[in-house]
Amino acid sequence: MRQRHAVVLGGSMAGLLTARVLTGHFERVTIVERDELAGGWAGDPGADPREREVRRGVPQGRHAHGLLAAGLHVIEELFPGAAEELVAAGVPAGDVLGNVRFCVNGYRLKQVPSGMAALSFSRPYLEAYVRAKVFALPGVTVRGGHDIVGVVVDAARARVTGARVQARDGAPETLAADLVVDATGRGSRAPRWLAELGFAPPQEERLHVDLAYVSRHYEVDPALLEGDIAMIIGPSAAAPRGGAVMLQEGGRAVVTLFGILGDHAPLDDAGYRAYAKRLPLPYVSDIIEASTPLDDAVKLRYPASTRLRYDRLRRFPKGFVVVGDAMCSFNPMYGQGMSVAGVEALRLGDLLCEGGDFDALRFFRAVRPVIDIPWQIATGGDAALPGVDGPRDARTRMVNRYLNRLYATAARDEVVSLAFNRVTNLLDPPAALLRPAIAMRVLVRRGTKTVHEL
Ligand SMILES: Cc1cc2nc3c(=O)[nH]c(=O)nc-3n(C[C@H](O)[C@H](O)[C@H](O)COP(=O)(O)OP(=O)(O)OC[C@H]3O[C@@H](n4cnc5c(N)ncnc54)[C@H](O)[C@@H]3O)c2cc1C
Repeated sequence: MRQRHAVVLGGSMAGLLTARVLTGHFERVTIVERDELAGGWAGDPGADPREREVRRGVPQGRHAHGLLAAGLHVIEELFPGAAEELVAAGVPAGDVLGNVRFCVNGYRLKQVPSGMAALSFSRPYLEAYVRAKVFALPGVTVRGGHDIVGVVVDAARARVTGARVQARDGAPETLAADLVVDATGRGSRAPRWLAELGFAPPQEERLHVDLAYVSRHYEVDPALLEGDIAMIIGPSAAAPRGGAVMLQEGGRAVVTLFGILGDHAPLDDAGYRAYAKRLPLPYVSDIIEASTPLDDAVKLRYPASTRLRYDRLRRFPKGFVVVGDAMCSFNPMYGQGMSVAGVEALRLGDLLCEGGDFDALRFFRAVRPVIDIPWQIATGGDAALPGVDGPRDARTRMVNRYLNRLYATAARDEVVSLAFNRVTNLLDPPAALLRPAIAMRVLVRRGTKTVHEL
């Protein structure tokens, strides 16, 4: 039976994708968001500048954002025909491996058609598309320009019965709800609300990376990318910095330079270009030098990957759940956050399909593997970099040695390159890299030099 009202706190990707799923289970869904949200999507990237506007609440929108294959699958499932519609509107598209140049730990991966589609858009444009689709659904109401004050509970303090919200210059009001979803991102106040209600807050796991993204947009001749839609150079043991060029809708590209542990790209033009020149491969710098900048560089710091272990709690109020970055925020270099939020939304829908009184603890446990895998990929990858404070035990050293051989093999072996790509796109679990067919190729490889050694 359909319940009456769900309130989603936060109108970014996790909130929107969750709201889309909730419309199948609730008569009304209200999205509450601090920013004013434009609801249209004209299709033509030039038609409505608001579609590409970076919102205050989502400052990462200025920076490179990739959608993994797993995430594109979710978008297609929730909005059938989305990829076709976005491509028709001018979003650059290609193959996730055949048209994306990757350099991992100093090895440039072999490019081969994978059969997996990739779209390359700006974050605000994707969000505007999803927003327009969700806002058009029957039963959806949007409270833009509203701050979330807290949650409301019943007399027994066992069930969340609504949310307190406040319009700018308005008085606080209560939105009664059968389910309140916290999708407010890294700044979520859910742990504090839980403590105030007498519940144990979740433990926090953190991996400090002191990462910064520094980005500029450029008018780029797509021919410079030689058929690719994106180029990504990840940090390596030899160089804790990287860069990405991603074509976007509207005939431009975003260039993001990133470095960890304080090795941050400068904002001034000369410093920015010099930093790009010191990347292990020249292609990001080559694009910068041959293209016209459209704006000044902007910096965003990301101190640490953070995971709140809601899945380990024993008590949690009914009528309340936490999703997206509010539950787990991954080092953005791995491009996982939106895709994980999408898969979480699908799992939430699966549990709601079972009917009965929704139990958030079951949801947190159901999404544990959904989070475990990208968390392992991101924190494992970071911990392999010198200076990052991760596990250094014998097992980790062995895994890292194997992975390094695997990257070297993937530089010349299509099968291994594809297997690795399926894992990083969250389509296969990391264990797939240990399958005999892959392990044999990795263990018999003969020396491929890293780009640092060439
Ligand atoms: C630099 C950077 C690059 C990234 N690159 C990628 C990438 O390449 N690929 C990828 O998949 N992911 C990437 N991510 C992660 C991705 O942006 C998030 O995972 C994704 O946006 C889902 O987050 P969310 O919706 O849970 O939270 P957020 O995107 O943080 O949104 C939270 C929302 O809640 C609202 N809000 C917060 N507090 C309140 C309040 N008190 N009252 C009202 N509203 C409130 C905010 O305004 C905002 O709209 C990147 C992140 C960063 C920082």
